[in-house]
Amino acid sequence: MPKKILVVAGDGIGPEVTAQAVRIANWFNEHQGCDFVIEEALIGGAAYDETGHPLPQETIDKAKASDAVLLGAVGGPKWESLDISVRPEKGLLGIRKELQLFANLRPAIVFDELADASTLKHEVVSGLDIMIVRELTGGIYFGQPRGVEELPDGSKKGFNTLVYTTEEIRRIGRVAFDLAKKRDGRVCSVDKANVLEATEFWREEMIALHQDEYSDLELSHMYVDNAAMQLVRNPKQFDVMVTTNMFGDILSDCAAMLTGSLGMLPSASLGHPGTPGLYEPVHGSAPDIAGKDIANPLATILSFSMMLRYSFDMQKQADTLEDAIRSVLAAGYRTRDIMQDGAQEVGCSQMGDMLIAALEGDVSAAA
Ligand code: NAD
Repeated sequence: MPKKILVVAGDGIGPEVTAQAVRIANWFNEHQGCDFVIEEALIGGAAYDETGHPLPQETIDKAKASDAVLLGAVGGPKWESLDISVRPEKGLLGIRKELQLFANLRPAIVFDELADASTLKHEVVSGLDIMIVRELTGGIYFGQPRGVEELPDGSKKGFNTLVYTTEEIRRIGRVAFDLAKKRDGRVCSVDKANVLEATEFWREEMIALHQDEYSDLELSHMYVDNAAMQLVRNPKQFDVMVTTNMFGDILSDCAAMLTGSLGMLPSASLGHPGTPGLYEPVHGSAPDIAGKDIANPLATILSFSMMLRYSFDMQKQADTLEDAIRSVLAAGYRTRDIMQDGAQEVGCSQMGDMLIAALEGDVSAAA
């Protein structure tokens, strides 16, 4: 069965890094009997320049008709003075909304070869492999009522509302448990059940879901303040962490820094089973290095690897790709952002060359 991948490269380094992922997809087509059909569409500032809107209807239609979407990055100084309604970031928020992506998956994986890039001690992060699952479309970021009101005495009050329904909690819980099934079988649900009723309810629903559908897996609970502390104290204790929109926003950035490098961090956002997922590097469009062919494409290529796992259930190909990344790093090749003493610096497309050589079994052939 052909698998339709929509590539929305976006702005800045987006086109450079997605191009390397497309080369990998084509390699799988040519050498492993895969049938990836790649289409392209506009998003962000590039879309605004061409069509006057950061998320043209054509992109939405193509995304909905695809099996998965690979996104580069959006934004840059060129579009910063635009009205907020047509800024590049609106394209990103818009596509997430259109695809109803309610689960954000952010792995924090530390390749042994890069463990020294972390600000934490080598032994704390070396071999780290955890997954943070953040609820993406509910919670305090979307709850009503919200706003800023004037009080009778002329002062003001600002307010937001933290809301979660049974359905919202259970659907994100299922994503976390299903991931844990393919990993170490452990889910830690993070809340603030001692203070916030809505997250006390979150905990009750997680417990009920666990009992009803996943009692063969392990479920634990942690308050968010402790979770933040444990993430930097002993991150390897976790397998899958699942949490609310706001707590996930904060914890996933904290976990990201365990790896020490923005250029290595992939992400996936998933919606209902059978609908296309969106895969993108965590980093932005890096205007400071755009067009110089020096960006690290590995976050985008690791996002493609997540696509293979979570949208296409192609575990073997994802393992092959991640092994190739490991062997390129072990052979000492690094883009500038992850450069270390004694390593050899390569550019963005050269990193693609190295990976393809590694997929073909001989990294040194590309040197
Ligand atoms: P950024 O992630 O683009 O860059 C931060 C720093 O990291 C820069 O020094 C950059 O050169 C470096 N960097 C980022 N990705 C890299 C890579 N793959 N290889 C090597 N170095 C890399 O964040 P920023 O500078 O705060 O934002 C720049 C633009 O990107 C802004 O317009 C912002 O709104 C946008 N942005 C977009 C997204 C997205 O599309 N998902 C996310 C964050 C920021």
